[in-house]
Amino acid sequence: MSDYRIETKCIQSGYTPENGEPRVLPIYQSTTWKYGSTEQMGKLFDLEESGYFYTRLANPTNDAVAAKIADLEGGVAAMLTSSGQAACFYAIFNICQAGDHFVCSSSVYGGTFNLFGVTMKKLGIEVTFVDPDSDEETLNAAFRENTKAMFGETIANPALVVLDIEKWANIAHAHNVPLIIDNTFATPINCRPFEWGADIVVHSTTKYMDGHATSVGGAVVDSGNFDWEKAGKFPGLTTPDASYHGITYTEKFGKAAYITKLTAQVMRDLGSIPSPHNAFLLNLGLETLPLRMERHCSNAQAVAEYLSKNDKVSWVKYCGLPGDKYYDLAQKYLPNGSCGVISFGVKGGREAAVKFMDSLKLAAIVTHVADARTSVLHPASHTHRQLNDAELEAAGVTPDLIRFSVGIENVQDIIADIEQALNA
Ligand SMILES: *Cc1c(COP(=O)(O)O)cnc(C)c1O
Repeated sequence: MSDYRIETKCIQSGYTPENGEPRVLPIYQSTTWKYGSTEQMGKLFDLEESGYFYTRLANPTNDAVAAKIADLEGGVAAMLTSSGQAACFYAIFNICQAGDHFVCSSSVYGGTFNLFGVTMKKLGIEVTFVDPDSDEETLNAAFRENTKAMFGETIANPALVVLDIEKWANIAHAHNVPLIIDNTFATPINCRPFEWGADIVVHSTTKYMDGHATSVGGAVVDSGNFDWEKAGKFPGLTTPDASYHGITYTEKFGKAAYITKLTAQVMRDLGSIPSPHNAFLLNLGLETLPLRMERHCSNAQAVAEYLSKNDKVSWVKYCGLPGDKYYDLAQKYLPNGSCGVISFGVKGGREAAVKFMDSLKLAAIVTHVADARTSVLHPASHTHRQLNDAELEAAGVTPDLIRFSVGIENVQDIIADIEQALNA
């Protein structure tokens, strides 16, 4: 952990070459590492010594990028995954097993909503979705004897709900469970959830962190702050692991217990690792993240202001707009800007939304959001297609909702494109 400011960390953290070593993080494109004796290798398998032996568990390129992300978030350690979905699954599965339960914001990303509500249910792990704006009493009522975690997104994709992280952390802690925050849209440039009491952070690095739409990836970051022993309900971390000759993670690894178990057990067994080449590309993205976020946010602010004054637009959601439902929370948690994603509705509902999208020239219709190029999506017919009307409503997604991801092009060109499409 360095004392540098975040812009410096984005460039410098994670990889520090020694004399005569490459200045730029090398791509260790190797599945395996060579050792001189059977005993040396055996110690690595027993977690007696740290070192590389197989890329599914650890790879120097991946580790350097994970260390940079941990430093950006202010955590003790991080692990990269091959996708954001894997990061969300791993973060929960590391502390929940069949018979357990967790509480989750109902406005999370559609893919996460399905993963938690449908797929994890098949594994015997149950979730209760709660309106993220609920009062404390309602949130408390969602907890059960077997509840093991609370999960939400800093800025929900695509509902753009800003989570009251501090309130959620207090509630989670009152029930002796960690708060896990998906910080994908804000990025650590605009919000560091650990500073507000969150315990674990996850990312889809596919979005702003990579920033160029080249590599699907994810990350799980551990603050090291949650006291698993005191909570008394996480035997996976506080009692011996039979698959490692009886190691107890909290005893042996202290503040790094959660991330060590995540790597040594969950990643070992499930294996959703990114390729070192993708980690290298992610690292390039991280280097310019502060510059890009600044531009995404100033462009989005200008586009949101333009849309809010246009009479063909029925509503605009962007937490940087005074009067937005989440303006005050954004001022607290995202004082330097939120993200480049705006949602809005055009007058004329679903049909007008489709017509508008098909008329855009610069902004491309893609599933992706949050990269350098301006892009647009209609969640009701794309990402949230699996959800029924009631679920759509709970997720904050109306049929006319257009998710507009403002890129880092010249903002006048972006606005001109919107204008010609609205007139079409
Ligand atoms: C995209 C996204 C995910 C899923 O990440 P993938 O990298 O697509 O697997 C999870 N959470 C949020 C907030 C996202 O935007």
